[in-house]
Amino acid sequence: MEVIDAYIDATRGVDATGRVNRQLNANYRYAFASMVDSLRGLAGRSDLGRVALKVTWSNNVKAETVRIGDVAYIVYDQFVGQTFRRLTRFTVTEHEVAHLDAYLFKLYANLFLVNGHPRTALEFGLRHHGMKGKHALPPPRMEEQEAWHGLQEHFVLAHELAHWFLRSGTLEAMQARTNFLTSLRAAGSYSEHRRTGSWRMRSLDESVRTWRVSVQRAFGLPPSDSAEQRYRDTYATQTFNYPKNEMEQILQLFSEGNEELIEECVCDGVATNLVGEFAEKVGMTYLDGMRASFAALKNMRFLRQVDAKAKARVNNLPVSAGELTWNSPDVLRWITYRSSLFAIALRRMHGIEHWTHRDAFSLLDYVANSRVLEKFHAPLVSYSVDFYERLHDHAFDIFTKFIAVSAIEELRQDPGYRKINDMTLTQCIIMTKACCSWV
Ligand SMILES: [Zn+2]
Repeated sequence: MEVIDAYIDATRGVDATGRVNRQLNANYRYAFASMVDSLRGLAGRSDLGRVALKVTWSNNVKAETVRIGDVAYIVYDQFVGQTFRRLTRFTVTEHEVAHLDAYLFKLYANLFLVNGHPRTALEFGLRHHGMKGKHALPPPRMEEQEAWHGLQEHFVLAHELAHWFLRSGTLEAMQARTNFLTSLRAAGSYSEHRRTGSWRMRSLDESVRTWRVSVQRAFGLPPSDSAEQRYRDTYATQTFNYPKNEMEQILQLFSEGNEELIEECVCDGVATNLVGEFAEKVGMTYLDGMRASFAALKNMRFLRQVDAKAKARVNNLPVSAGELTWNSPDVLRWITYRSSLFAIALRRMHGIEHWTHRDAFSLLDYVANSRVLEKFHAPLVSYSVDFYERLHDHAFDIFTKFIAVSAIEELRQDPGYRKINDMTLTQCIIMTKACCSWV
């Protein structure tokens, strides 16, 4: 057995590679090979080294790169795609809140299992199971094309490949890094300059608005004045201390050499290029690729936030723990990404989309092209609004703080609960899987 397979068995369970759907596996391999070719093409004669794809199917939503000897193995789990599909459907489709709750119980159950807390996982699993009839979502709408979902998954692969490319230490990789940071300066000034509010971090008022929508949907009533005041107080102190000129501040951080963060941001940019290019190759548009990358990154951030909440819960931290603040790496990455999308769009208009190629655009160039830039940007903003109204705010401000708390409390009051306390951890794992239909 090869070392990489032993690693996968140990971290994702035996047979994690054997269970992969054959059609999906072929799709991933095709996209992977195509994107590797693009990067090798960009690198010209420079040697990027060896890279290989390992697809698994486990309960682990983490994609990772494992270096063994001189090969970079990119481990990708089919489960990422399933999760993305779900989250995207909740974002783009009208749904009953109970369907979302049922799914969130299951998602948390999974994260508690993966993080090694089977007893808590079982509590959430039981709650999921109890919501009979709410497990299946209504059938998808036409516009949720399968291929577009596939592109979201390719973004995850592309991001890992971008790490492989950047870590090659080649001249081309260094150029990509430099060009990304240079482009960001003008693109960042442009997004500051627009000052429409929609592309900046949500303002407190915007947040209150989507939160009110979520409360109305969940409880059938608008929030009371005092509840709204509490929401405003909490969020004004925790989350909305964003500085003016966000991008300036981030560039300042970058110049102080936060290499890890810089690399993540550059990889997101390189990955978006790769996905756009691949979309065109398979009959979609470059813009489809950008939209899919945007959605994928939003979904990834959502999952990291759920994971942070799950960890806070098992460590008995207050519910507010795991709340994102302005300087959390995820937020900085997201702000950077939104500005870099303007750069990608403008570069694309001028046929210099690859980050290995330099551009010399100034703020004036962005302003001069603003009509086209706004047109590309509008569907992303509307996706974003749906994401907050239908998924995000309910998940974090209502489900985590109220629905899950009272549902689990109620479960613990139940006379049958003592049985759960007497169960071994292995029994808890088996039962959680049965509750969530993972067996
Ligand atoms: Zn990364």
